[in-house]
Amino acid sequence: MSMSENKVQNHITPLLKREGQGGNSSIKAVLFDMDGVLFDSMPGHAYAWAKIMTEYGLPMREEDAYENEGRTGIGTISIFTQKYWGRDATVEEADELYRRKTIVFNEYQAAHGGEAPEIPGAGAVLNAVRDAGLLRVLVTGSAQQSLLTRLEKHYPGHFTPELMVTGDDVRYGKPNPEPYLIALKKAGITADEALVVENAPLGVRAAVAAGITTIAVNTGPLDAKLLADEGAAIVLPSMSALAEQVSEIINNKGI
Ligand code: MG
Repeated sequence: MSMSENKVQNHITPLLKREGQGGNSSIKAVLFDMDGVLFDSMPGHAYAWAKIMTEYGLPMREEDAYENEGRTGIGTISIFTQKYWGRDATVEEADELYRRKTIVFNEYQAAHGGEAPEIPGAGAVLNAVRDAGLLRVLVTGSAQQSLLTRLEKHYPGHFTPELMVTGDDVRYGKPNPEPYLIALKKAGITADEALVVENAPLGVRAAVAAGITTIAVNTGPLDAKLLADEGAAIVLPSMSALAEQVSEIINNKGI
């Protein structure tokens, strides 16, 4: 078994142990990605990306959407214009494609119950983090206008505009550490005082590059090894699995 495979398990690993901490946690905030962590929205995003990009002459599979999850819209589009056209997308192309992709995403959701459902266990994780007295911070590449309304509807009282980093706040976006560094600044804490919960390989890469211990939850179709290879301290199969362990992880008990 390789090092990375070792981390893909459903119990706490010694990798989360902090030297000399004596079991007293210094964690002050947990930083949450949104798509694939709080909402089961990735199937709709993957469907919409693959359909619109392929129609535009940029062949893209749904799996590609998962592999690129976390990038901003123009970031994802440019990966494919580089591949097929040898150049970045123009702002006009990106705006047009992202607009069409959003329409298809909304149509997909309308045909699947109206909006993306909650990820099972996410509410329990948020409540445990709140009950431990820690801040909850949102760090998403999404720039949807209705984001806060939707969060408040499903996870009332957990998120505020002050403790949120969205696609509108960033210049580079994930996998650059920028969004997580902005989140630390907004929360007024250091990397050592935070934990990140991410589901995407590029999201894990961004968080690890920001120096933050990262919990990966593999809620999508990709191999869990990809998350471990990006430097996740632990890879869990679901948010429900994290809900069972999150208090222990925060308190560093028994590890
Ligand atoms: Mg995600």
